Amino acid sequence: MTETLIEVRGVSKTYANGVVALRDVSLTVAKGEVVCIVGPSGSGKSTLLRTLNALEPITHGEIHVLGEAVHDPRTNLNRLRSHVGMVFQAFNLFPHRTVLDNLTLAPRVVGRLHQAAARERALHLLDKVGLADKRDQHPGQLSGGQQQRVAIARALAMNPSIMLFDEPTSALDPEKVNEVLDVMKDLAAEGMTMCVVTHEMGFARAVADRVVFMEAGEIAHVDVPERFFGPQAPPRLREFLGQILHG
Ligand code: ADP
Repeated sequence: MTETLIEVRGVSKTYANGVVALRDVSLTVAKGEVVCIVGPSGSGKSTLLRTLNALEPITHGEIHVLGEAVHDPRTNLNRLRSHVGMVFQAFNLFPHRTVLDNLTLAPRVVGRLHQAAARERALHLLDKVGLADKRDQHPGQLSGGQQQRVAIARALAMNPSIMLFDEPTSALDPEKVNEVLDVMKDLAAEGMTMCVVTHEMGFARAVADRVVFMEAGEIAHVDVPERFFGPQAPPRLREFLGQILHG
């Protein structure tokens, strides 16, 4: 039986300013699954992703992640978040720390890992994302693509069960996009459970197990890539994909 790691049930979210960002959204993600979330700007993609580790509280519904009730005020969110890695559009690295320190800080402080063990894991992860030689540099000395790979390695340093990506390549120069997507492809191939908000349709088509189309706060369509990107997709989705692919 497949294990469900993320279960979103009937979730709605209204921001304090009255904007309804999510309307009755339901979605499950199984262990090892890669789900890409696409849709027009403002459709609620980022909000949905952020609700999964309680960066946004929800207005209605239920969210269970790794068996924990995210919507329940009694849930230990710090513990939950230590199992759910998140990578943002803006890399959010600690600018005054070296690359290596960026990777060892949280495992040492939150994960209570000893310095030597944290360092060993960090070096392994830097090697994995192709940046072993950058360990003593500061983030500002790296390209955007390199910084984002460090951010991914930093998230992985906590040994998460789930990785969430919020438009991880949107802030990058076009020639740097693939180096980040390649790291994400490797992660997916290793069986990481991933939710990825993205405009990279080639990535979604190649890597996703399912693709979610959001529009106006709702999940308008979900399907496997072959059908999602195929001729039988609903007209509104085809129109959206046409706009993305043909500018
Ligand atoms: P997407 O990721 O698809 O671009 P978002 O989840 O960022 O969409 O936004 C969904 C809607 O919620 C938009 O109308 C946006 O303006 C609004 N929104 C997002 N964040 C906030 C916030 N912190 N406060 C108020 N409204 C917000």
